[in-house]
Amino acid sequence: MRNITIVGGGQSGLQLGLGLLDKGYRVRIVQNRTAEEVRDGKVLSSQCMFHDAVRNERDLGIDFWGDSCPPVEGINFMVPAPDGSGGKAIDWASRLDDPAYSVDQRVKVPRWMQEFSDRGGHLVIKDATVSDLEQYTREDDLVVVASGKGDIGRLFERDEEKSPYDKPMRALALTYVTGMTPRPDYSAVCFNLIPGVGEYFVFPALTTTGPCEIMVLEGVPGGPMDCWAEVSSPEQHLDASLNILNTFLPWEAERCRDVALTDDNGILAGRFPPTVRRPVGTLPSGRQVLGMADAVCLNDPITGQGSNNASKAADAYLRSILAQEDRAFDASWMQGTFDRYWSYAQWVVAWTNMMLVPPPDFVLRIMATACETPPLAHRMANAFNDPRDFFPWFADEQAANDYLEELASKAA
Ligand SMILES: Cc1cc2nc3c(=O)[nH]c(=O)nc-3n(C[C@H](O)[C@H](O)[C@H](O)COP(=O)(O)OP(=O)(O)OC[C@H]3O[C@@H](n4cnc5c(N)ncnc54)[C@H](O)[C@@H]3O)c2cc1C
Repeated sequence: MRNITIVGGGQSGLQLGLGLLDKGYRVRIVQNRTAEEVRDGKVLSSQCMFHDAVRNERDLGIDFWGDSCPPVEGINFMVPAPDGSGGKAIDWASRLDDPAYSVDQRVKVPRWMQEFSDRGGHLVIKDATVSDLEQYTREDDLVVVASGKGDIGRLFERDEEKSPYDKPMRALALTYVTGMTPRPDYSAVCFNLIPGVGEYFVFPALTTTGPCEIMVLEGVPGGPMDCWAEVSSPEQHLDASLNILNTFLPWEAERCRDVALTDDNGILAGRFPPTVRRPVGTLPSGRQVLGMADAVCLNDPITGQGSNNASKAADAYLRSILAQEDRAFDASWMQGTFDRYWSYAQWVVAWTNMMLVPPPDFVLRIMATACETPPLAHRMANAFNDPRDFFPWFADEQAANDYLEELASKAA
């Protein structure tokens, strides 16, 4: 039986650990917070997960919230009119083929930690250091580092070529609320792009106290949505969130007349540069560890893909570990494992990074065309589940023009 240590018990680490236990591996997960600390702490994410990512959890029998979590049934994309009239310049919506779900990681992670222990996993509560990694590599066949944004991930070298930004591109904030007026027709990620200012998206979720809505605010640094430094209480955080809606998005403000915070920890503000790192980390002894998910492929949340990526990385790594059978988990296997994941993730990274800069005219044309072209809106909504479907037509002007012409001729 092979022994594997995973450092970091978040979306990817716990999912991989549970998958390996299922196949008879001995697994240790080293996690730096207890289940109680996670549950009673601040929110960590907005974690909206689309069908393929949720299916990975279902396949492992660890999707415990299919009945209690309110579904996200579609995507609604809006841009305010530039004339300040309070109207919309762009507004399209489409249903997802399969619903998405957002289960607060304060709910999911403690439950999965318990499940991991119940299924025979060895859970260690410890803030792992490089010298701990040395010890784990001496004891076990493989060490995977799934530490998210944790500092230990710095042992993986930044990949300059794959990381176009060296500073945060958005000031991020989360506000978990109850009492929001539901969107008519069907629930959706309501994604609002305010040119030059930032983005606001909102969708239903399940939190520690029951159903809620998660407000995600992405402010261009230095702009009017980058306002969190002056906030010093949960009440002020909610007020600042609502102030942004009142100023730029009256239709969203309207839905928020009766909102209240889910709890004092239902808020978050922060920023980080999106960063891809080299997946094989070499310790001072020369031994190697393999990075997974955010530890080596950290995206801005603007496209809501991080947890989806983490689920897909855990699934890809699980398959690669199983396929290796009794052979060594050496550096070339580690690189190959990441490369297979990267063959998917590169498209998510490219799309996400595109969304962090002002869109070129042809992308604005795509967005405007979607308002009167339901098949286009449907394709874009469902590409959140698999962003490879945005390519090449969302990234290349010629491909975009060809695709729009094809759609127009079909509609004629
Ligand atoms: C504001 C915001 C909004 C987001 N919204 C979405 C969204 O809508 N949809 C989406 O898909 N994704 C979203 N994400 C991203 C998503 O939450 C992450 O990408 C995902 O959780 C990454 O999973 P992971 O397993 O790589 O890391 P994490 O889930 O972060 O887990 C890492 C774990 O490792 C632990 N750890 C760190 N260092 C150590 C150490 N030295 N020793 C032991 N343990 C350690 C941490 O405490 C943590 O438990 C959002 C993120 C943010 C910040």
